[in-house]
Amino acid sequence: MSIVRENLMTRKGYSPYCGNEQCRFHMPRTRYIGGQFQCGCGWRSSFEDEFIEAYEAKWAEPEITPKLLRNLHLCDPAPVSIETAEANIRADHRAGKITKEQFQKEMLIMARARKQANADPSHLPKEEPR
Ligand SMILES: [Zn+2]
Repeated sequence: MSIVRENLMTRKGYSPYCGNEQCRFHMPRTRYIGGQFQCGCGWRSSFEDEFIEAYEAKWAEPEITPKLLRNLHLCDPAPVSIETAEANIRADHRAGKITKEQFQKEMLIMARARKQANADPSHLPKEEPR
């Protein structure tokens, strides 16, 4: 395993430097966006899916809670949009039904879901016609 990969798997929050030698930002550390590490200059890492899967599994923070599944209506024939789920989570938090920690966790999960949905719109639940 390369040092970069080893660091990625052992150091939380670690990110590799940009790999573009002509980088106009002088090859800064990259950010994890949409399943690869990305620099503002447009450079993206090219780790294979298998590695990224292991990486995500290693650092996945929020757990999928029964509460979240209910909010997402995953077993429901009419799936709700991410916006609706977020609104539900906010309402539950305001009503004191969930703790602040739980609220933050669920919003984190929603942010991830939104990122995934933006990266691949085909996974987006369809909005019901109004
Ligand atoms: Zn760059």
